[in-house]
Amino acid sequence: MRKKTMRATHDPNVTVVNHPLVGASLAILRSKATTSADFRRALQEVSVLLLGHASAGWETVPHEVETPLQKCMGAILARPLVLVPILRAGLGMLDGMLALLPLATIGHIGVYRNEQTLNPVTYFCRLPATISEAQVVLVDPMLATGNSACQAVALLKSNGATRIQFICLVACPPGLERLQSQHPDIEIVTAAIDPELNEMGYIVPGLGDAGDRYFGTT
Ligand code: URA
Repeated sequence: MRKKTMRATHDPNVTVVNHPLVGASLAILRSKATTSADFRRALQEVSVLLLGHASAGWETVPHEVETPLQKCMGAILARPLVLVPILRAGLGMLDGMLALLPLATIGHIGVYRNEQTLNPVTYFCRLPATISEAQVVLVDPMLATGNSACQAVALLKSNGATRIQFICLVACPPGLERLQSQHPDIEIVTAAIDPELNEMGYIVPGLGDAGDRYFGTT
């Protein structure tokens, strides 16, 4: 039987979600012919699927409910949830995820890439007070150099977060290596690992600038 997911061989904390619906959305997102409207829709859809996968191991606690017929046991999530998009492209993954987790609280981390050095510069950080007890899901469509993700995870940790997952759409080896070497404790879930990062810091073949394509600023 075909496996639904594949562990990346170099690290057990990296999961590539190999699912036909994820693949179909990714093909739409990669195509340069895709309009912003279709890009937004596909990004929302794939974000739900990736979150569905990432949440499979979340802890639950027993919870009694009463059906119209009798009481029975159910299960509810053990921890509050905090979704943290890395601005700005991470915002594109938020709507889909909120459809699945309407009770999640939202934090924001703003990191931009200095185009000369490719180094991350933090310009905004606002995180909820529940962060230390929460299951935190950090989202950014592209794990390119890994600089922004490393910076964002460091900010989450310095604010007390201990359970952090990073969900992206496309990763590449340099970004994965950097994030895993600086933060080996976090779980990474991605739809694809592409082979290369070019000299401009873009993932190849990738999908271009995810923020520009989502917001229509190309
Ligand atoms: N950010 C993007 O939006 N795309 C890339 O390929 C790399 C970083």
